[in-house]
Amino acid sequence: MDSMTAWNWSFLLLRAATSVTCVVAAVAVARHGRGRHGTGWGYRAAAILYLLLLAALTMAEGYRQITTWAGSRTPLLDWFWLGTDLVIPLAVLLLAILRERNALAGQLAAAARHDPLTGLPNRAGFAEEVAQALARAARAGGPVAAAMLDLDRFKRVNDGWGHAAGDAVLRGAADAMRQAMRPGDILGRMGGEEFALLLPGLDAQSALPVLDRVRAAVEQAVPHPGGGEERVTLSAGVATLEAPRPEALEAALRAADGALYAAKAAGRNRALPAG
Ligand code: GH3
Ligand code: MG
Ligand code: MG
Repeated sequence: MDSMTAWNWSFLLLRAATSVTCVVAAVAVARHGRGRHGTGWGYRAAAILYLLLLAALTMAEGYRQITTWAGSRTPLLDWFWLGTDLVIPLAVLLLAILRERNALAGQLAAAARHDPLTGLPNRAGFAEEVAQALARAARAGGPVAAAMLDLDRFKRVNDGWGHAAGDAVLRGAADAMRQAMRPGDILGRMGGEEFALLLPGLDAQSALPVLDRVRAAVEQAVPHPGGGEERVTLSAGVATLEAPRPEALEAALRAADGALYAAKAAGRNRALPAG
């Protein structure tokens, strides 16, 4: 053992590094199971088993070599095999890091477009989804309506039963609206207790029954923290887009907001068309 050369020692050090890299790569592969972007269990189990086996064999081979090389140089071929052993876990590790980074970037991008309380698209997410829906609507032809919806006397819920109760009402209202809208409609939370709904294929008049259904769904499904006869209601205003183009959305939402204001003034718990 005393006559081990510096070459022998550096070779064994690299062998140990290869083993450690195998184990680190196995842990990284196991972590792929987390979240939506996980890899299938069969592939992961096989890869983990392979990497751990490689780690064990690398160690065992290192031990064998310590006992046989004393006094001689490390054979060239062994350097070659060490290289090939190291390439595999390094490649697996690199792939795992890239996958993790991509998944994280995807999650961050999705989080930036969604409101964490209700899970609905926020203002930016709504604009993005609307742009796609308007492109589809332009191809399909027909009108597009945009609505603004606002919970009635919501401040009372916060003031009377606390912010947490208000949050629960907001979540419940978002769920009920999602259930009641048509597939292809797009709902977003614009801020506070204000929501916007894009209704492709409908004009302001023909959107009224859909808005009434959404309104009734919230009234029926969302428990009011005060209990008893108290109901969670909302008011809505709706306008037709000049054309199925993103530039027309802002003007339509402004007109819808005017109609929403009129719905509030008329006693709330109703949907009105603009104009
Ligand atoms: P109106 O019928 O005229 O719409 O009356 P309102 O009380 O609903 O309207 P107002 O705009 O005065 O109140 C909105 C309240 O919404 C004020 C704010 O404290 C509350 N709010 C905004 N965002 C949140 C939130 O994320 N959670 C909770 N709990 N409350 C919120
Ligand atoms: Mg309100
Ligand atoms: Mg409001």
